[in-house]
Amino acid sequence: MKYVSTRGGISPLNFRDTVFEGLAEDGGLIVPERVPKLSEKEIQDLSKLSYQELALRIFKYFVGDISQNELKKIIKDAYKNFRKDEIAPVLKVGEIYILELFHGPTFAFKDIALQFLGILFEKLLLENNKKINILGATSGDTGSAAIYGMKGKKNIAIFILHPYKKISEVQALMMTTVIEPNVYNLAIKGTFDDCQGIMKNIFMDLDLKKSLHLTTVNSINWARIMAQMVYYFWAYFRVCERENSYKIRFSVPTGNFGDIFAGYLARKMLGEDRIERLILATNENDILCRFINYGDYSVKEVKPTISPSMDIQVASNFERYIYYFYKENSQKTKNTMEKFAKEKFLKFDEDEIKRIKADFLSASISEEDTLRTIKEFYKKTGYILDPHTAVGVKAGLEFKEEFPLICLATAHPAKFPETVSKALGFPIKLPEEIKKLYKLPQKFEILPPEIEAVKKFIREKAI
Ligand SMILES: *Cc1c(COP(=O)(O)O)cnc(C)c1O
Repeated sequence: MKYVSTRGGISPLNFRDTVFEGLAEDGGLIVPERVPKLSEKEIQDLSKLSYQELALRIFKYFVGDISQNELKKIIKDAYKNFRKDEIAPVLKVGEIYILELFHGPTFAFKDIALQFLGILFEKLLLENNKKINILGATSGDTGSAAIYGMKGKKNIAIFILHPYKKISEVQALMMTTVIEPNVYNLAIKGTFDDCQGIMKNIFMDLDLKKSLHLTTVNSINWARIMAQMVYYFWAYFRVCERENSYKIRFSVPTGNFGDIFAGYLARKMLGEDRIERLILATNENDILCRFINYGDYSVKEVKPTISPSMDIQVASNFERYIYYFYKENSQKTKNTMEKFAKEKFLKFDEDEIKRIKADFLSASISEEDTLRTIKEFYKKTGYILDPHTAVGVKAGLEFKEEFPLICLATAHPAKFPETVSKALGFPIKLPEEIKKLYKLPQKFEILPPEIEAVKKFIREKAI
């Protein structure tokens, strides 16, 4: 399989070339040249596999330049630190199915992709005798999942900026208790915006970027998307086994459109008759919901909410959907995205909205409804949702019709103990692994919100 840019301006890449790429050189995003539509026979063959076997089979469609045995070993290593043998258990809870994606080391779904990416990075770097320095800014989940993916890996150093004392205690501890020598937590005396600003600025220093082989692990990375496709297949088969239906729906709490885009590709491969539609759930940062329901993709201020990992306005993977929406017409995609960059909004007409709605349903869920959903779902079923998952469950239930519904549980509730306890009216129990964090030694560097101070630190410690 070769890879191309959504904007059509690069020569085709191999999978290996995509692994360290963020944006394509023409400013577009990397997509596979073709998304295979599976035959009945192929689908049957996939339905009985273990999670890891399934991952191998799905990856083989997209990876032509890593041998089957090597890929198998990467997958095995990627998922060995998960707390459940099934990796992503599917539970029937009340009337719906919950796909638990939070059994990795940092208790959120980003582990599924980043554990895989860490192993893949290390292998490719060692083979090519190369080194990278990863730089990121986080307000929570991504930073810890990236740190756990990269810690202890050869030829990799990782620098993660977070706003000092401005993220939840659990989120901070999950990062600062990682004391491996290749991990640097930089607690910036400022806001998340300061952290992001510093990061962007450092990446604009092209000499530094080049000399230090600086890179990111953000959600536009193709290998991350590919790893996330697997659990849509996995959950689809588990629910088909139990229901007298081969047609199901997924509800996906969405920020950057990464996770749900993986679902969109899985739907292309399985067929639109099998995954009837994807329900795109947003919090009050509702740009994607407005896009689907009204054809209005216009940027507003980011509003901080109790589901912080979805507090996003411009969804970095949106362009990938636009590319398929325009039937892989890269010129049209390019024009559309350039128009958006200039005007900060896009408008889609009635016919287009109809086509979008054939792929997605969408609802935006308020904080009040999120809290109420956590409480009511617990009362009805005894199951505790984290705030992100609650957004997905609430949106999913708004559309519950004749199809079985699978809601993606993207984080463990103990990652957001303050919010969840407030919703329930009692303090929730923390898993041992999280309780333990409070007693572990920490390693972090407190720095002023100044570009030069951060640059100096990175220059000194980079590999
Ligand atoms: C990152 C994240 C999301 C949103 O995922 P996207 O791929 O950005 O849409 C949802 N829930 C949790 C807990 C997350 O960490």
